[in-house]
Amino acid sequence: MTAHQPAQQPVPPRKRIALVAHDARKADLIAWIGANIAALDGHAFWATGTTGQKVRAAHPGLDITPLKSGPLGGDQQIGAMIAEGRIDLLVFFVDPMTAQPHDVDVKALTRLATLYNIPMACNEATADMIVSSAHFASGYAPRAASFTDYETRKL
Ligand code: PGA
Repeated sequence: MTAHQPAQQPVPPRKRIALVAHDARKADLIAWIGANIAALDGHAFWATGTTGQKVRAAHPGLDITPLKSGPLGGDQQIGAMIAEGRIDLLVFFVDPMTAQPHDVDVKALTRLATLYNIPMACNEATADMIVSSAHFASGYAPRAASFTDYETRKL
């Protein structure tokens, strides 16, 4: 596992939040956003395509950018944003009861969120804990991942 170093820059209070919901969880995500709209309003959102369109229709006041649909590459687009340091929080409502055609993309996304030490909520309880945390409203910065050992490994 990689060591971590203090982040160079604090994360601004306006968080960059990625949203994904499998089909059976989209209504739950929209309801969760509605229940937490006071905490979420004013942040910047990116989402996989269908999730983003549905969230935008339900909550037109949010600043949300839909990407490609998940099975068409949207999860990988969000993964790339995480790798580039452009996402502060991933809210990914997973359906654990249905096989997904893009399961490898889902694994890749959750792996990158883990690797880059991004807060990640895969269900409502975790998402509730995150948005109600004092860190959510502050400039809290997770320790930035350091890959020096990996990058300088002997080959
Ligand atoms: P979707 O993708 O928002 O385009 O439905 C979600 C997913 O990755 O399953």
